[in-house]
Amino acid sequence: MTFLVFVEQHGGELQKGSLGVLSKAASLGETDAVLVGGGVSALAAEAGRYGAAKVYVAEDDSLDPALPQARVDVLARVVADGGHDTVLFANSVLGADVAAGLAARLDAGLNWDLADVELRDGVLVGKRPALQDSVLVDVGWRSAPRLALFRAGSFDPAERAGEGQAVEVSVDYEQHSRAAKVVGQEQETAGGPSIEDADIIVAGGRGLGAPENFTLAEELAQALGGAVGATRAVVDAGWYPYSAQIGQTGKTVSPKLYVALGISGAIQHKVGMQSSGVIVAVNKDPNAPIFEFADLGVVGDVHAVVPKLTELVKQRKSS
Ligand SMILES: Cc1cc2nc3c(=O)[nH]c(=O)nc-3n(C[C@H](O)[C@H](O)[C@H](O)COP(=O)(O)OP(=O)(O)OC[C@H]3O[C@@H](n4cnc5c(N)ncnc54)[C@H](O)[C@@H]3O)c2cc1C
Repeated sequence: MTFLVFVEQHGGELQKGSLGVLSKAASLGETDAVLVGGGVSALAAEAGRYGAAKVYVAEDDSLDPALPQARVDVLARVVADGGHDTVLFANSVLGADVAAGLAARLDAGLNWDLADVELRDGVLVGKRPALQDSVLVDVGWRSAPRLALFRAGSFDPAERAGEGQAVEVSVDYEQHSRAAKVVGQEQETAGGPSIEDADIIVAGGRGLGAPENFTLAEELAQALGGAVGATRAVVDAGWYPYSAQIGQTGKTVSPKLYVALGISGAIQHKVGMQSSGVIVAVNKDPNAPIFEFADLGVVGDVHAVVPKLTELVKQRKSS
């Protein structure tokens, strides 16, 4: 079995998720990597340290914008030349797009949303969370090449002794692959700790009532020195950015303190925060599911409870 891992890089920084997938593949067998963009030849050695034997580089400044189609061309070329039978991706907006594009191009089977993979008697078996993440099911592939996309954070990057031999790839790009242009890019500016690193998270749900009421969560988070999280319902409604979403299709967090404001506690939210140290919930419905797993619960209206709580925290901190 020969693995090929699409290693995503932005601004010369290899992405942690891809390095995790690379390390995992290298622990299973012969593994190569693909890097696309400007200055990527200089990153081959780093990819080598995480397990890539050959690092196929498509060195081209014009490919720096994170667009999928040209990357599909590169991967299709490498698979055709290198004979790789398994191509692995870490989930990201770009990774998912490239994986789907390559599956269509090669008419290959793509297993999506995997959390792990193993070799069982020489056969590759993927593990996919199911039934609201309560079980892992085995999944396989009917044909090669086998494609797989792994959930964020499935594997930790592990350095191993390796050099990474850079191999330049020359690609005849499809005409449509270079047609899309990135016309602008915005960098989200975040204040305070990120939700991945924060010891304290104050998360808001639909019970806040309106996007502007997220100030309730923000002010409490600021008083506590924490970060702000959100449920998918409010992210989907455009009340808060996706980067703050916690849960099955968002981030998994485990702060020391998790304060849930106007959050019902749906299983898809719970799986992303249930390992928090202390869970505090404010909800006006005494039967809200969140009270089943909260350590402390306040049955009340967020508009009445939260400003008082924030004030108390501020007073306590200043005294
Ligand atoms: C495949 C799939 C993946 C999903 N992934 C995620 C995910 O990653 N993260 C996630 O969060 N969800 C996810 N969901 C959605 C999830 O099922 C819920 O719909 C969502 O978590 C509900 O968000 P909420 O608690 O903000 O809203 P609601 O369920 O509408 O709950 C709002 C709560 O606020 C309370 N409330 C209302 N007004 C007030 C008030 N004034 N004061 C106090 N309390 C009040 C209500 O009693 C209620 O309990 C997913 C769903 C699916 C199907």
